Amino acid sequence: MFDLLRAGAVAWDVVSAGRGDAALLAQRQRQRLAELVRAAQAQSRWYARQLPADAARLPLTALPVQRRGELMRHFDDWVCDPALRLAELRPFVTDPNRMAEPFLGRYTVWESSGTSGEPGYFVQDAASMAVYDALESLRHGGSPWSWPVPLGLGERIAFVGATDGHFATCVSVERLRRRQPWMTANLQAFSILQPVPALVRALNAWRPSIIATYPTAAALLAEQAQSGALRIAPREVWTGGETLEPGVRRHVQQVFGCRMRNSYGASEFLAMGWECDQGAMHLNSDWVILEPVDDDYRPVAPGQRSTRVLLTNLANKVQPLIRYELEDQVVVQPGPCGCGSALPVIHVEGRGDDLLRMEARAGGTVMLLPLALSTVLEEHARVYDFQLRQCDGRTLALRLGGPAASEAKAALQRCRQALQHFAQAQGLVPLELLDETALPMLRGRSGKLRRVLACPGE
Ligand SMILES: [Zn+2]
Repeated sequence: MFDLLRAGAVAWDVVSAGRGDAALLAQRQRQRLAELVRAAQAQSRWYARQLPADAARLPLTALPVQRRGELMRHFDDWVCDPALRLAELRPFVTDPNRMAEPFLGRYTVWESSGTSGEPGYFVQDAASMAVYDALESLRHGGSPWSWPVPLGLGERIAFVGATDGHFATCVSVERLRRRQPWMTANLQAFSILQPVPALVRALNAWRPSIIATYPTAAALLAEQAQSGALRIAPREVWTGGETLEPGVRRHVQQVFGCRMRNSYGASEFLAMGWECDQGAMHLNSDWVILEPVDDDYRPVAPGQRSTRVLLTNLANKVQPLIRYELEDQVVVQPGPCGCGSALPVIHVEGRGDDLLRMEARAGGTVMLLPLALSTVLEEHARVYDFQLRQCDGRTLALRLGGPAASEAKAALQRCRQALQHFAQAQGLVPLELLDETALPMLRGRSGKLRRVLACPGE
């Protein structure tokens, strides 16, 4: 009952603020920021040390930048509930049978590898989940993704992604299935780690009306449809998690003849933005603050691309994120959007890894998704800071950073085993893995470190 009342109140706020003007959004943001800072100072030992006494009255830019590695090392001091302990959370999040189960009976938790370095663990209480749910379902046209009203009835939604870890999207899908049993018949998750022909067969059997996936996986599915193997007619394709390149968007729209809707989220804030009908990505600025900054953490003007952003999550008071560094590159568009929304328009770049085309045992090529390769290395070889470079159709080169670099030989062996096993299951010719750990990591065109790079010319 309390949950329903809260959901109703949040829903009303999300709808009314979404239609409000810039002054209303700014007022909501200011008020929530002051509340967050006060809560963090009072209940988080970490922030009590980090923040000056008058932090709630200072501009956000005067507060210190936070980084994942340091916060994770001080997890028990960072969180606002002393019952939350990393030593107990970690085994919970690695147990596949406990996906979407409430931790300590009240918290939604997920893990994230991030794009470099250390894994992160994120804890949400019912209040912050109510905000994410309302933002996902009630803004920008609405989606049946997470709302308690059965808007999704009649749809057949396929989530195509990494399904065997407590990742944010996967936990969200499982949570939805648990909370809304009627959704079970409408929502199915498909693992991108299975061989492409098996994925194609499963999707052909399911006949989804909506596909929710990553841009690279959408591109792979479009190619499968073009070749005639995948025979589905989705009404909409939803993407997120990676940069959606204009070429990929055109291709997927053309092949499936469907509408595409792109979203922007992170493990640190699930529902940062959705595209409006004009194709502009609107940031939910009443619930999340993104400060685009350069390498020296100086603010970057609208219209200019940042090299990173600082995220402040105004919804989560259990595990406060204040000026938390994310590697996303963001351009804030100057001026309002033609759709009439006062929510700022952003363009997110630099979240792009490459699809690899490798030689198949049966002749032809097999496409490997960057997210599948990353998941294999994280889950089976336990490396998080790495770069995989394609040398040719049967050879990849691996560079390791972080803790794995110091035990490179053992880490390389785990990676080789995991990748060769995966390649075998995907129908590739035997895979060669070269050791390039001694070489510096390569940067992409945008200057951002990338994890999976195709051969030049691909
Ligand atoms: Zn718009």
